[in-house]
Amino acid sequence: MDKTKNFALVAHDNRKQDMIEWVDWNSDILFNHSLVCTGTTGRLIEETLEKKLLKHQDRARMPKIKKLMSGPLGGDQQLGAMITEGQIDMFIFFWDPMEPQPHDVDVKALLRIAALYNVPTATNRSSADFMISSPLMSEPYQPILKDYSSYISRKI
Ligand code: PGA
Repeated sequence: MDKTKNFALVAHDNRKQDMIEWVDWNSDILFNHSLVCTGTTGRLIEETLEKKLLKHQDRARMPKIKKLMSGPLGGDQQLGAMITEGQIDMFIFFWDPMEPQPHDVDVKALLRIAALYNVPTATNRSSADFMISSPLMSEPYQPILKDYSSYISRKI
């Protein structure tokens, strides 16, 4: 992955305030990267970053934000497909540990695919803080991918 990273940002409803505060706090770094979000999370992040830039009259710094469908309407699956295609470098996923979600199966699938493709994944604010402040953020980095060729070519 390049110095400019493609961040995926997703938050369940009870964690959206956490996400907004995290994005606001880290906006100076995030302005230098591209963002991909599930629908509602993306709208809130866009509003947060726009407000920040408006204050400084600096709209040109607005990062590219790709908004997928809302998570429960297929956004998690769209994001999973992007991970499979190697389009996501960093994944910040504030999922709700206290309430079941209508799309729990999609949430599980998304976490599985992120683990499978060795995508750096933070599931709470402190791990996201450590991730974004890593020295590796400002360097090219190639995550090691397990070789599944023998699985793909297995005899059935
Ligand atoms: P949302 O989806 O950003 O559209 O609310 C989040 C999720 O995956 O539940």
